Amino acid sequence: MTNDKLRQLPGVDILLKHTKLTDLADAYSHNIVVEAARAELDLVRQGVLTHDKDIPAETELLQAIVARAEAMVKPTLQTVINATGVVVHTNLGRALLSQRARRAMDEAAQAYSNLEYDLDRGARGSRYHHAEALLCRLTGAEAAVVVNNNAAALVLSLTVLAQGREVLISRGQLIEIGGGFRIPDIMRQSGATLVEVGATNRTYIRDYEENFHAETGLILRVHRSNFRITGFTAEPNLADLVDLGARRGVPVMDDLGSGTLLDTAQYGLTREPTLQESVAAGVSLVTASGDKLLGGPQAGIILGKADIIERLKKHPLIRAFRVDKTTLAGLQATLLAYLEGKAAAEIPVWRMISTDIKTLDWRARKWQRALFAVGLKSEVINTASTVGGGSLPGQQLPTRALGIQNQSPNLLAEKLRDATPPVIARVEADLLTLDPRTVLPEQDNQLIEVLQSTLTLKATP
Ligand SMILES: *Cc1c(COP(=O)(O)O)cnc(C)c1O
Repeated sequence: MTNDKLRQLPGVDILLKHTKLTDLADAYSHNIVVEAARAELDLVRQGVLTHDKDIPAETELLQAIVARAEAMVKPTLQTVINATGVVVHTNLGRALLSQRARRAMDEAAQAYSNLEYDLDRGARGSRYHHAEALLCRLTGAEAAVVVNNNAAALVLSLTVLAQGREVLISRGQLIEIGGGFRIPDIMRQSGATLVEVGATNRTYIRDYEENFHAETGLILRVHRSNFRITGFTAEPNLADLVDLGARRGVPVMDDLGSGTLLDTAQYGLTREPTLQESVAAGVSLVTASGDKLLGGPQAGIILGKADIIERLKKHPLIRAFRVDKTTLAGLQATLLAYLEGKAAAEIPVWRMISTDIKTLDWRARKWQRALFAVGLKSEVINTASTVGGGSLPGQQLPTRALGIQNQSPNLLAEKLRDATPPVIARVEADLLTLDPRTVLPEQDNQLIEVLQSTLTLKATP
């Protein structure tokens, strides 16, 4: 009888007296344990009522409560091993930070700082000051300000420069920046009216000229950071747009997105436009992300003419987009590495991009040997890493990766994701590939352990 069964079910109070649960309450919190116990008891009750299940033994019930409580206090954000070879992986946290940046962020978090305090005058200062001088020195900009991310930089800049006015933009640059967010939507939020000019593949200066009205408030160029248009294409260069803007008395803004300070060509990639170049071209404002090719914390970097930056700093929206002290500390440390010429050596994004093929081959072979030692066959293959994160679309960096042949590589990839720590691999046809370029050297041992245990547990078909 269902009711007889339910009568055997211990109450929460009784269960909570058990040492297993009192220990748990000491370790976590009483409330967590009560919630876990209630939830498990509910589950059992439902099982009895709907499927006439039996009441589990007490040890089993206690075990389930412990597991549930442990899951409740486990952080959902956890470290993973990125073996995809995508350096700026948007879903895996974009740019990793240098040790210098991490230390600076830790310090800013643990002690008071002069974040908004002028030590000379003993009075209120500006938080924006901490990144501005460095950004100007590195790029030649007159002034700079930092907000939460590049999307915020766009909303703020467009609001200040073009609210209630028309913005000219090439049809070929109406990009979706990721996660379903599109430039036209961001523009609408700023109260600016989008005026598309030219054709998707070809836009000329005369297309901008023909669309000029009394309401035209801005010329916007958006760097096609995450896709490529090839073939029969044309686009005016920045200098021509700046020239047009000057003739018509309208500012020009350049959304670079990836925001590189280093020349990507020296790493065998196509040349990504640099922040310095946009500034030198004379645009009024340049915007970029802090956590793409710059390799710093999530931030929106705005460079430009002093009078416009001043207007941005005074707009109420800047308060809503305000960066945190840890961000400013990490960004400042990252920028200092560039200033000292140590960016390529210190910043993980650049270290990964510049890792030579011999080192990659050596690491892949080390993994291969470790698998061979436990009787697992794999091969070291030629494949390609990508920069990712909405930069250098279609660009590939030759790499050496570990390839594991399997009839169901997706199943294998799923098991690796389920491991501790989760390993994110790539699947190409019947091959599971693991690219050393994006695996931190200090994660090698963990990766090998996960591979050994996951692959040997699996009965390879
Ligand atoms: C990535 C990107 C953005 C958005 O930057 P977030 O820092 O992610 O907000 C905007 N514009 C371009 C061209 C981008 O590549």
